[in-house]
Amino acid sequence: MLRLLDTATGETRPLEARESGEIGLYVCGPTVYGPPHIGHGRATLVYDILRRYLEWSGQVVRHVSNVTDIDDKIINVAVTEKRSWQDVAVGAEDTWWDAMDRMGVLRPHVVPHATEYIPEMVELVARLVEAEVAYETAEGVYLSVANVPGYGLLAHQSLDSLRAGARVEVNEDKRAPVDFALWKKAKPDEPSWPAPFGPGRPGWHTECVVMSLALLGDGFALHGGGEDLKFPHHENERAQAVALGQPFARHWIHHGMILLGQEKMSKSLGNIVDLRRMLEVHDPRAYRLVVLQGHYREQMKVDETRIADASRTLSGLDALGRRLEEAARDGGSAPPSPDVLDGFKEQMDADLGTPRAVATLFDAVRRANIALDRRETEVGVSLARGAMVGFDVLGLAPVGSAEVSDSALELARRRDAARASGDYAAADGLRDELVALGYRVEDTPSGTRVLR
Ligand SMILES: [Zn+2]
Repeated sequence: MLRLLDTATGETRPLEARESGEIGLYVCGPTVYGPPHIGHGRATLVYDILRRYLEWSGQVVRHVSNVTDIDDKIINVAVTEKRSWQDVAVGAEDTWWDAMDRMGVLRPHVVPHATEYIPEMVELVARLVEAEVAYETAEGVYLSVANVPGYGLLAHQSLDSLRAGARVEVNEDKRAPVDFALWKKAKPDEPSWPAPFGPGRPGWHTECVVMSLALLGDGFALHGGGEDLKFPHHENERAQAVALGQPFARHWIHHGMILLGQEKMSKSLGNIVDLRRMLEVHDPRAYRLVVLQGHYREQMKVDETRIADASRTLSGLDALGRRLEEAARDGGSAPPSPDVLDGFKEQMDADLGTPRAVATLFDAVRRANIALDRRETEVGVSLARGAMVGFDVLGLAPVGSAEVSDSALELARRRDAARASGDYAAADGLRDELVALGYRVEDTPSGTRVLR
């Protein structure tokens, strides 16, 4: 069973499913005003991998991830580009899903948009005002965090130390610097929705608490997001539920950031910061592998070399996929190696230990190739199948083999044999035949790779 570090309490423990057995997972999604970068890519991959693993382990997951489709940033882009804010939001969201689909990210079961839940948000703010934990000013409605028991749980700081570090924005008229906006009253020409406390729009922290509770119910299992959202965003989501006496997320997970911004770093990053461009240049699975090779809680450095290395590693996996197909055709029928699967599960169950889990699988790939080289077919097939099950769970199934005809595989096999015996002229001739058939031919450490 998967045990995850709960960033609220610091304990590593299993997720608590509801009586129905369902695990409600809420992940803070994008504010849609521009193209996604590799940090967004990592975020969606981490929760995609978590969800795939939970589902494979037999859990029922309800994955909800929101889209913030009204925000200052969206309004600013709309003003600058002389477009409507709706047009900016819809366009940026299309770009977002296009990139995520290319990475093979499973779409969340529900994708609520902030603008679809405004009446519910107004109602929540009204309840907080009625409970006298929120107050209205000329600018908006604010939550008085001094009235919330346990404020600072996620920040791991006391209210006093948070107070000492808080800054007041110039145009805010709140009573205490740590208080935060639940409702922002509209300025001239800004989009707004009606509310008893004056037309305006919800604060970001109010959006997520309303949508998570509306779709997953009180006391849902797991809330996730980036390390940068722990405070104030998640603290403030939680504060609103606590102030109303509603149980909120029972477990919190936060993933680490991508290291960017240093000059040297950004230079070596070249064109991969923009997720779409990276996916054009590299195998879309390569970035998933890079993400898996780091632990989700750690900061991660990304550069072209790491992504190119991952692409090469995947070629080796694809080559094994083809060898497995051939071996299966030759009668190899052994089931997936239980040892490989047990090792994989053990690593994954330990706070989603993907770096070691992936290493376990690649070790099985290496041993499978050795066994197949020695014509120990059943051993090789069993190891290869074990590895493939694990990779499939992680969203890294081998590609290329299904579209490659048997005769092409035979040519590739003969080419490998020719190269192994030093007959390079024959090997070149076989490569030309494959190219003439419309295939792309690559050399990998484990043999010829044929692609359509
Ligand atoms: Zn959120």
